[in-house]
Amino acid sequence: MQSDSETQYIDVRFPVEWSGDESKIRKVVAEGMNCAEERLGKYRVVRKNLDARKRQVMAVWRIEVAAEHGDLPPDQPPHVVFEPVKDDAESVYIIGAGPAGLFAALSLIQQGIRPIVLERGQPVRQRRRDLVSITREHTVDPDSNYCFGEGGAGTYSDGKLYTRSHKRGNIQGTLHWLVQFGADPSILIDAHPHIGTNKLPQIIERMRGAIEQAGGKVHFGCRMVDIASEAGHVAGIRWLNLKTQEVHSERTRQVILATGHSARDVFELIESKGWALEAKPFAMGVRIEHPQELVDRIQYSGQPRGDWLPPASYRLVCQANGKGVHSFCMCPGGIIAPCATDADSVVTNGWSPSKRNNPFANAGMVVQIGPEDWKAEGFSGVLGALAFQRHVERKCWEAGGQTQRAPAQRLIDFLHGTRGRVSRDLPPCSYLPGVVSVNLRALLPAVISDSLAVGLREFGKRMPAYLDGNALLVAPESRTSSPVRIPRHRDSLAHPEVAGLYPCGEGGGYAGGILSAALDGIRVAEAAGQVLNSSR
Ligand SMILES: Cc1cc2nc3c(=O)[nH]c(=O)nc-3n(C[C@H](O)[C@H](O)[C@H](O)COP(=O)(O)OP(=O)(O)OC[C@H]3O[C@@H](n4cnc5c(N)ncnc54)[C@H](O)[C@@H]3O)c2cc1C
Repeated sequence: MQSDSETQYIDVRFPVEWSGDESKIRKVVAEGMNCAEERLGKYRVVRKNLDARKRQVMAVWRIEVAAEHGDLPPDQPPHVVFEPVKDDAESVYIIGAGPAGLFAALSLIQQGIRPIVLERGQPVRQRRRDLVSITREHTVDPDSNYCFGEGGAGTYSDGKLYTRSHKRGNIQGTLHWLVQFGADPSILIDAHPHIGTNKLPQIIERMRGAIEQAGGKVHFGCRMVDIASEAGHVAGIRWLNLKTQEVHSERTRQVILATGHSARDVFELIESKGWALEAKPFAMGVRIEHPQELVDRIQYSGQPRGDWLPPASYRLVCQANGKGVHSFCMCPGGIIAPCATDADSVVTNGWSPSKRNNPFANAGMVVQIGPEDWKAEGFSGVLGALAFQRHVERKCWEAGGQTQRAPAQRLIDFLHGTRGRVSRDLPPCSYLPGVVSVNLRALLPAVISDSLAVGLREFGKRMPAYLDGNALLVAPESRTSSPVRIPRHRDSLAHPEVAGLYPCGEGGGYAGGILSAALDGIRVAEAAGQVLNSSR
């Protein structure tokens, strides 16, 4: 039990089916406080978790309790007002309107600085049409797709909001901002919060509204094509208006580069300028899909899932052939999404609606890839990992008949013998462009497929039902994290060779998801703002 002067925090455990029964919970809290129910002060839940290790699934809640008969202080966080910046405010260019870029923009406004956001993709509503074209016409717009466009790669996602890094900033404050823009307040107390694809676009539009109302600018269909520097300092940027095909140049001394891990042209631009870049280990593999009902049975000890339990998820990790194999970005009740950014590639990822109520559960199942692996495959240099990634994505596109159909295989056929075998037929799958039966064991580079086979067998030992006859592998899962790091100075957070250039978010190699990208955006904006405000 923890306490401060007025309230105490206790952790309580009770059968999950009591969750909706206020009288039972009151009793549990009173017992936890060692106090008669009549004397119990006001209380509220501050954290909700589940313990599903035993047959009886337990709710594990952290409760804040007032002194006996007492009241709790108000829980409402202050509503943040993004005050308009002054007419003569300094400006900072932000490249990319993903979570890193949008949160950086809001943070700059709080510091009285005008953000000017350039985004190569389209606003969320228009972007949706480009996503439909991927599924129906198999055409990928290289500037507006599942990775590029307003809200970045996370807009049409599951919207999972957890980060393992608790050192990077104010997580709760960032979640409060999301609630202010329309996210369900439950994200503040869920141990594994998520928003859902159906809710994210509106939240992102509201964020843009707040930026524009405060005097910030957001330009869509504008692809940054060059960054100029003079004497080791950013001097300006150039961008292409994709509609008019006009190139614009602007002088500026502060650029936040929040372009995400799929903007290969940005990495190539930096390399062509001779500015420092570092190759970075990353992970590649497949998406695995099971019936959600099967995952529920595995995780909930063979019992059907009652109303009080969420669609089950899992997290798996093991060592195989000396390499880490792990599940990634699991989407319970989700859909496998076509996430290529090039017309001649196939890439998969996953999303879920807020209710996670689709009949499938999908997750990335990936192998850790290091420099020795892409070198062994014939790819070298600082962008060797990018070239390897592109090579695998292209092979999958070719195997899918040069369309957005993805190569796929039943898990049991992938694990057949030492070489796998083509599946005679494929089970239903959520991937809308369609799947083609291919022996992925032979298609994927051995460094991926051999370790995956060992890893999947190991996971099957832990959960035999996981090796279900209807489990399907869809390839490739290739954009797990950035295969390149853009270095930055430890204190100034600017590129060590180009002052005023701030690599930020997942593309720089400083984030691994929506929340960590948002936190990094705020951190970098504060660093950039400090420089501007101290030079006034
Ligand atoms: C389908 C899918 C599902 C996902 N699910 C989750 C999830 O549930 N939880 C989670 O935490 N993470 C998830 N992720 C990962 C998450 O989306 C990213 O980690 C996060 O969006 C990274 O944020 P970012 O701002 O650094 O970069 P991004 O979100 O990638 O944003 C970068 C932006 O920069 C723009 N850009 C790139 N180059 C240029 C240029 N030259 N000029 C102008 N603009 C440019 C891009 O168009 C893009 O909008 C998912 C990703 C995908 C694709």
